[in-house]
Amino acid sequence: MKPIPYGKHTITEEDIDSVVEVLRSDFLTQGPKIPEFENSFAEFCGARYAAAVSNGTAALHLCALALDVKPGDVVVTTPITFVASANGFRYCGAEIKFCDIDPVTKLMDLDKLEEILSEDQTGRIKGVVVVDFAGYPVNTEKLRSIADRYGLWIVEDACHAPGAYFIDSKGEKIKCGNGKYADLTVFSFHPVKHIAAGEGGMITTNNAGLYEKITRLRTHGITKNNELLSKNDGGWYYEMVDLGYNYRITDIQAALGLSQLGRIKANLDRRNAVAQIYNDGFKENENITIGNISKDIFHAYHLYIIEVKERKELYDYLHANGVLAQIHYIPAHLMPYYRRLGWSEGDFPNAERYYQQCLSLPMFPSLTEEELKYVIKKVLKFY
Ligand SMILES: *Cc1c(COP(=O)(O)O)cnc(C)c1O
Repeated sequence: MKPIPYGKHTITEEDIDSVVEVLRSDFLTQGPKIPEFENSFAEFCGARYAAAVSNGTAALHLCALALDVKPGDVVVTTPITFVASANGFRYCGAEIKFCDIDPVTKLMDLDKLEEILSEDQTGRIKGVVVVDFAGYPVNTEKLRSIADRYGLWIVEDACHAPGAYFIDSKGEKIKCGNGKYADLTVFSFHPVKHIAAGEGGMITTNNAGLYEKITRLRTHGITKNNELLSKNDGGWYYEMVDLGYNYRITDIQAALGLSQLGRIKANLDRRNAVAQIYNDGFKENENITIGNISKDIFHAYHLYIIEVKERKELYDYLHANGVLAQIHYIPAHLMPYYRRLGWSEGDFPNAERYYQQCLSLPMFPSLTEEELKYVIKKVLKFY
């Protein structure tokens, strides 16, 4: 059997045809596929606006820019995430304050967040970046009520969680990125994520002003919008009104992303089915802790994670047997860069304990029954 990676994209003939169609067309970038992808993605999330960008990290940076994050501002995020969740705000000079995770959900502990906010004497905390880690949606309704009390914005990093949702207190299904409670939500289309576009990202929001700023800043801060121009010399005329970037996606990528978005439901269903099979395989084994998922959420299962005491030994054993398990994540505050900014071992006991025990097993829609059985057999054999 070929080694089984922890995650993998699927490319169909339809995906290939949609990319080839762009290659034969007049526009490789700035063409019709980008708004088509944006409109479909906004509809999928239930958001008013969606802006496609070059990758998920650029999406986070654009959020920080649109929210006017400046040196001296403090942004709170979770240590159990990919470092980009924090870095996007560092690019604008924000100080990052980490908040420990809930040991059950592995998401930012909102009670701890509340403590941090109530104890803050500086008044410099401007916003919160939450992460729907592994595909588990954050309860943004609860977060919104906390954030509103302290006048904070919310950015939701949903790179793991397109299609995930929770049921709010009114019984409404809150899909990640629907714009109801978070100000801005970001997604990634890196091939290891649900939707592969090569590279790519998306920002969804219901806020027209933020959307307008983001679309301007992703293309050099340039506008042709008459309301923003100081004058108008003619049809060619544009002005650069802010220092923006080139964070555009291409039509080639948008076509691939759009084609993949068409299969998102089957993708999510298969991931949930795989998780169920893993859970059934492991639930009797007292050495293996499986995820404890609340009943009123729909998990997107970007990752399937178990927690074990002999994590390093199991990792080595699985790799020797062709199961390329991974670790998500080394806590961000323990990275040398963030240590230099003052964080150290012992700061976040829940995150650090979780890191010692976590292991991500192969999770992707094209994982075969045979591969799945093999992974479960090998894990159980180790014990
Ligand atoms: C993948 C990922 C990102 C960054 O996305 P890129 O498209 O790779 O830049 C940000 N946050 C999280 C949680 C991610 O998993």
